[in-house]
Amino acid sequence: MPLTSPWRSDFPALAAFASEGQTYLDSAATAQKPQAMIAALTDYYQHGAANVHRAQHLPGERATRAFEAVREQIAHWLNAAGSEQIIFTRGSTEALNLLAYGLEHQFQPGDEIVISALEHHANLLPWQQLAQRRQLKLVVLPLDQHGDLDLGAAAQLIGPRCRLLAVSQLSNVLGRWLPLAPLLALAKAQGALTVVDGAQGAVHGRPDMQALDCDFYVFSAHKLYGPDGVGVLYGRPEALARLSHWQFGGEMVQHCDYQHAGFRPAPLGFEAGTPPIAGVIGLGASLRYLCSLDADAVANHETALHQQLLVGLNARAGIQLLGTPQVALACFSVTGVHHSDLAQLLCEQGIAVRAGQHCAMPLLASLGLSGAIRVSLGLYNDSSDLERFFNALDQALELLQ
Ligand code: PLP
Repeated sequence: MPLTSPWRSDFPALAAFASEGQTYLDSAATAQKPQAMIAALTDYYQHGAANVHRAQHLPGERATRAFEAVREQIAHWLNAAGSEQIIFTRGSTEALNLLAYGLEHQFQPGDEIVISALEHHANLLPWQQLAQRRQLKLVVLPLDQHGDLDLGAAAQLIGPRCRLLAVSQLSNVLGRWLPLAPLLALAKAQGALTVVDGAQGAVHGRPDMQALDCDFYVFSAHKLYGPDGVGVLYGRPEALARLSHWQFGGEMVQHCDYQHAGFRPAPLGFEAGTPPIAGVIGLGASLRYLCSLDADAVANHETALHQQLLVGLNARAGIQLLGTPQVALACFSVTGVHHSDLAQLLCEQGIAVRAGQHCAMPLLASLGLSGAIRVSLGLYNDSSDLERFFNALDQALELLQ
């Protein structure tokens, strides 16, 4: 049965795409924005931008109030104990780099950092660089034949030298949830810090910090129908207290003379310089929009549409799905067809999908692939998008196969 999205008209970009013949199927890279979020950004600029935490004037106080209200809102959304646990960054990537620099002094040469084999480069390279700077060992947890994390191997590999475990909540390539509860328990049993990259996971279910019980959690606004250039780092108070300051500048300082300075604790001590004020306000609006929707209706719509996507892909000869995705995306390769040739022919027919290594080169290499195509759905997609995709795919494959 053809599915329509009741939320499509909330997203002006979908109408713009339609008018230029584009079909957007790349929401796992970045999602389109609801009008309510765009209006919040415009409203902030139209009614007067001002810097936060430093001005003794009405516009400054207004901007500070709006900015800090979003910190409260996010703490509530994440079920965090307090808003001082929420640090604004420029994205998940910056949050993970903040951790890799901020925790540097916690390690001794020979200590181990443990990641999984499916990490996005954002949750691999900061730790790889840290391991090189401090002579640490980077341990990589393998996947089993289904593409799931191998918990038996993890139990062997997370040993007494493990000082930190950093893993994704949900794979951006395989679309599968990681078994975080047992994994984090293994790391905690060794006294290690735990970091969860929620860049994909936060989009598919409200993250609950009490239930997850990790030390640090990161996500990006732009994948959550919010603006780009904004991310969040959540930390448990005891874990935040172990962070060293990493970027230095305005508003993160408690006192300063020419030779010395003392720094504020989290969160402001980790938000040096002018933060992305409009973006934070926009993130607040995108979360308000998402929370106003019937979460079950959104999940049911995405699941049903995902099913149509998987059925359509499985019905076509030569298509190999990468694993069995649990959320509304699918990565695939086609026997004898180069992913970028296929992506080019899809692009020429107005289909926007992601092609390449998906910022997970080691994972793709371990699967014996130089790249793959990823189709990812947002709550605004519907069956007409998939119909256009499959028509274009069939034409492209006819040419290429
Ligand atoms: N982690 C995962 C799993 C991702 O999918 C992404 C982005 O695709 C990131 C981290 C990096 O997020 P950002 O580019 O917003 O910093």
